[in-house]
Amino acid sequence: MIVVVKHGASEKQIENLTNWFKAKGVEPDVSKGTDMTIIGLVGDVSKIDTELVEALDIVDSVKRVSEPFKQANRKFHPDDTVVTLKNGTKIGGGNFVYMAGPCSVESEEQIIYCAQRVKAAGAQILRGGAFKPRTSPYSFQGMGEDGIRLLMEAKKETGLPIVTELMDIKHIDLFTDVDIIQIGARNMQNFELLKEIGHCDKPILLKRGLANTIQEWLMSAEYIMAGGNHNVILCERGIRTYETYTRNTLDLSAVPAVHELSHLPIIVDPSHATGLSRMVPTMALGAAAVGANGLMIEVHNDPPRAKCDGAQSLTPDQFDQVTASVGKVLAALRG
Ligand code: PEP
Ligand code: MN
Repeated sequence: MIVVVKHGASEKQIENLTNWFKAKGVEPDVSKGTDMTIIGLVGDVSKIDTELVEALDIVDSVKRVSEPFKQANRKFHPDDTVVTLKNGTKIGGGNFVYMAGPCSVESEEQIIYCAQRVKAAGAQILRGGAFKPRTSPYSFQGMGEDGIRLLMEAKKETGLPIVTELMDIKHIDLFTDVDIIQIGARNMQNFELLKEIGHCDKPILLKRGLANTIQEWLMSAEYIMAGGNHNVILCERGIRTYETYTRNTLDLSAVPAVHELSHLPIIVDPSHATGLSRMVPTMALGAAAVGANGLMIEVHNDPPRAKCDGAQSLTPDQFDQVTASVGKVLAALRG
């Protein structure tokens, strides 16, 4: 349920109203936008008498939200959410970010070199997998704890914040200095994991599941937000379709769709979406053109020798070209 507050309502009046809602057992979320103040109500709203609320002096209107996602819904929070990292980097709104780096951390030299190169190209965040979700149990599973340690070395060396995947809540203590916790496509509907990270205060990068609808994806964001963590960034990384020419099918229309439905930032990962490094630059331009809030791109010092996802990884030189050409699209959009 959404309560639109009249212009001119005082802080005290709004506070009285939110306290009244709390006493009724529902959780009010006040969103002060540029044009209006909205109180979103989550929980069992059946006990709220809509007509009574509508009749209050400070209330303009009351609306029921038909979608099952509430806190992730743009109706609850008309302004874009901007997620701010510890070092001040902003994701969402008018900001455009690059999260770049190798699929997996492989060695100290590799991750530090990649970090330096992606930073020089304009990336604000270093990616690198330490715990890897691999289709085969015989494939490289990532460096685990050592990988996290090496990511911290790269952070110390370059100042870049780190995004890396958490697969199992039992590893959470290793993530203390990680800046963004990635929840991978395969865990998008691991509801117990989503509930756990909903209780932590770190930004979450929630990748879209391999075969999930936009609504299911937003419901997973809702799980995290329902736990109190509102710092969720969505990542479109391609979905399974009948097409096999590319690794997945990049659903670029998810970007404007998410902007319509939700206030959360959305970035695009053209690397996992296409599986083909030659297509990554073009799809990166497309993602910027349709309004993504950023890109996640795999960049490896030596793609043919990468332990994971070499075929879709860009060289640092190729990544330099991507940020330069995406910059032109962004400038054109700004007019
Ligand atoms: C990754 O980003 O390294 C990854 C495994 O991605 P996804 O979960 O989208 O497959
Ligand atoms: Mn990968």
